[in-house]
Amino acid sequence: MKAAVLEKLNQFPSVKNMDLPEVGPGEVLIRQDVTGICYRDILTMEGFFPRVTLPVIPGHEIAGKIEYVGEGVSGFSVGDRVASLIYIPCGKCKYCKVGDTNLCQNKITYGETRNGSYSEYIVADARGLVKIPSGVSDEDAAISACVTGMVYHALVHVGRLKKGENLLVTGAGGGVGIHAVQIGKALGARVFAESTSPWKNEKIMEYGADEVISPDQIDEIVKKKNGGADVVLETVGIPTFEKSFKSLAAGGRIVVIGNVSPAAFPLPLGVTILKGLSVSGSISSTTEDMKSAMEMVSRGQLKAVEHEKVFLDGIGKAYSEMKNRKNLGKIFIKLH
Ligand SMILES: [Zn+2]
Ligand SMILES: [Zn+2]
Repeated sequence: MKAAVLEKLNQFPSVKNMDLPEVGPGEVLIRQDVTGICYRDILTMEGFFPRVTLPVIPGHEIAGKIEYVGEGVSGFSVGDRVASLIYIPCGKCKYCKVGDTNLCQNKITYGETRNGSYSEYIVADARGLVKIPSGVSDEDAAISACVTGMVYHALVHVGRLKKGENLLVTGAGGGVGIHAVQIGKALGARVFAESTSPWKNEKIMEYGADEVISPDQIDEIVKKKNGGADVVLETVGIPTFEKSFKSLAAGGRIVVIGNVSPAAFPLPLGVTILKGLSVSGSISSTTEDMKSAMEMVSRGQLKAVEHEKVFLDGIGKAYSEMKNRKNLGKIFIKLH
């Protein structure tokens, strides 16, 4: 099978011919037509995750058709279309026992210490699989764990976003943000979309934003004209955090799901108390979140926004486009 392998840090993954991987107990072999490229894969290449063991096949946005079922797997058969979590939960810790597998501290992430999805075939653990409803595309399924399920988790379970509330999404033109706009709209929020790339504004409106604003307009438009944000989905981090925080209405919740800078922010505790604000982090998704995201796709409320498709030998070019924010939505790799 063809796969792209990360052999050295700071070097693009290179295309190799490899043997089909062996399928162990509890695992399945999946044939993939597409996989998504994630900003996290670039950070992996750049050495941001010390746990990564090289060489490794990067990628964690997994979807396709089951070709082989390992020993002890129940509920899945050859021919089933499935998507996978980006990690394998341990199944034993206090978080896994109550279904909060995204918080599992023993999880193994695909594309880090175990081969990932930049590959025609992948071996995945059955505990992280969800069947893809008919009518949901492979692209929609491939991003149901890392992108749309993750955003669903952040908005519904952490941010407790309710119908009619004001939602501010920062980085709204990015691979995560453009899907967050759609999910926020589907949940009934009034969506303010912050973007620094004006050429993306029209598209962001098409996907459901009520207003697209620059970072400098957050105070004027969200706070002064509309009474403040009930929920902020912070996908950028430090560069926008201060403005996001100041935009919160009383009782407002800011949910951080992305951060591009290692710098710190001094949290004003007095305001936090007096206005009853919450600052939370949200990490990844569970299989339940993946199902909820794919149900939104089935209902026509959510669609994978595709910037382009590349082949395995086009990954370097795709990484450069993403680093320079040239993409509106996701870049996928075509595998078959
Ligand atoms: Zn991802
Ligand atoms: Zn666990």
